[in-house]
Amino acid sequence: MKITLLGTGSPIPDPNRAGPCTLVQAAGENIMVDCGRGAIMRLMAAGVFPGMVGTMLVTHLHSDHITDLNDLVTSRWVMMPVNVPLRVVGPPGTRAVVDAMLNMLALDQQYRHDHHDDLRANGPLTVNVEEVGPGDAFTVGAVTVSVHETDHRPVKPSIGFRVEHAGKVVALAGDTVPCVGVDEMCRDADVYVQTVIRNDLVSALADALPNGQRMRDILDYHSTPEQAAQTATRAGVKRLMLTHYVPPMQPGQEGEWRALAAAHFAGEIILGPDLTSTEI
Ligand SMILES: [Zn+2]
Ligand SMILES: [Zn+2]
Repeated sequence: MKITLLGTGSPIPDPNRAGPCTLVQAAGENIMVDCGRGAIMRLMAAGVFPGMVGTMLVTHLHSDHITDLNDLVTSRWVMMPVNVPLRVVGPPGTRAVVDAMLNMLALDQQYRHDHHDDLRANGPLTVNVEEVGPGDAFTVGAVTVSVHETDHRPVKPSIGFRVEHAGKVVALAGDTVPCVGVDEMCRDADVYVQTVIRNDLVSALADALPNGQRMRDILDYHSTPEQAAQTATRAGVKRLMLTHYVPPMQPGQEGEWRALAAAHFAGEIILGPDLTSTEI
């Protein structure tokens, strides 16, 4: 199993970091978790064509985690010789978002149908949506996935995924504070992927900004590197993978971020630029 951080950015635009998106490769499957800004460019850099992604998992419906879902859907559709709908698995609300997205793409579909007979013969642009909640489980080929509750209130529901194959386990949380659901999802996992924000840097930024309260608000529904490390220790995780760096992690800052987590977790800590990966 290989886990690649396709995008390590956040809502804050950064020239070097795509939006939140992680690729899990196992048993011949390419599974994307969230699909932020520029995710498809990074997917190509990882050597995976959009058509090779059969399933996309959505942790929650914040825009930074789904901005490029339409790009994945249309790129697959226009590039593939046959029309194989993308499977999108997410929390309740996902169907409404996908329906609205398909509505947004109606004109584009019409233009392409008018221009390409073979594309028209493939039929309409469709997406297979499955809405899931904590306690649900499903398979992607030979890979099994269970769904777990996370806490990103007032964003509700938000979920995480425990992905397993051949005795290997990766637990992937989106934005969340530490909670029982995340602990359960991570129990004895080989890898735990967590989105994080820096309390100290965000607080300092908030103090310096005229509208700083909006920045300060984000502290109460994300994990810090320290909290992610504490979760990893509690759950007996082997490797901790940090992503979604807020504020964007600058060159030379990696050691500082790592040290914050290492004070609470003795296992391996993985962080870095887009396309950082680990194999288990
Ligand atoms: Zn986010
Ligand atoms: Zn969020």
